[in-house]
Amino acid sequence: MSEENEAAGAGRVVVVTGAGTGIGRETARAFAAGGARVVAVGRRPGPLAETAAAHPGLIEPLVADVTGPDAPETIVGTALERYGRLDVLVNNAGIVQSGHALGDFDRPGIETLLATNLIAPVLLGQAAVPALAAHRGVVVNVSTAVGQRGWPNNSVYAAGKAALETITRSWAVELAPRGIRVVAVAPGAIDTPIGEHSGFSPEQSAAIREWQLGITPLRRIGRPAEVAWAITQLASPQASFVTGVVLSVDGGALVA
Ligand code: NAD
Repeated sequence: MSEENEAAGAGRVVVVTGAGTGIGRETARAFAAGGARVVAVGRRPGPLAETAAAHPGLIEPLVADVTGPDAPETIVGTALERYGRLDVLVNNAGIVQSGHALGDFDRPGIETLLATNLIAPVLLGQAAVPALAAHRGVVVNVSTAVGQRGWPNNSVYAAGKAALETITRSWAVELAPRGIRVVAVAPGAIDTPIGEHSGFSPEQSAAIREWQLGITPLRRIGRPAEVAWAITQLASPQASFVTGVVLSVDGGALVA
């Protein structure tokens, strides 16, 4: 591999969770397009195989539920066994739940939400640290514009992501002595199947889209590739002095 390619990040090993669809799929493909080798983590073999088909040999599907008790060790272990190193962890897998206005909450629902969106990224990040430290690695957490704004009728989703942003800032300081950078992206409204995956009715999805468009100055829904671009840029070796930031990719929603 040429020095130029290596400087651009080719040859690095990247784990992307939730890589079967949406932002995770585009992120896995964007890293592979830059020459990285990617472990694409998700629960369903079919969508993961579709993700991998775009870059055969560079994207390796790994069927795993990030909330599983052995998931952190399995995911990091797979990257190390297959490729011998880990350079970038993208904590992207996430869920939203319908019917989460105050008054609708129950303990199991909250626990499921936070198990996926908060606890899993923390435990996976923790498991990845030794491997990341060996190569001045990067953690990229995927938050949301509503992590800073709040989300009426979905307050715990927003709170879990806000916690992930605080963790990003805390880890950036904690892990700096080990050469690891920690950053986050905060997407606004992005065209992915997340509503469908979360059991929203078409009417609920349409109402959310309308609300999102109303708070988005650029007045359109974003594309997964636009978020993938931000993730790969923040993770690139050229971003070597960037840590502890949350980059909005939201058409201006945060500042509106
Ligand atoms: P998506 O539903 O297409 O992608 C999420 C992926 O994570 C899915 O493939 C899903 O199967 C996977 N996943 C969920 N739980 C998992 C688990 N326990 N183990 C393994 N995989 C699991 O939706 P997306 O919009 O691409 O979401 C990606 C991330 O972006 C999420 O963290 C979401 O909160 C965040 N986000 C999305 C938007 C948006 O408008 N689409 C906005 C802000 C933030």
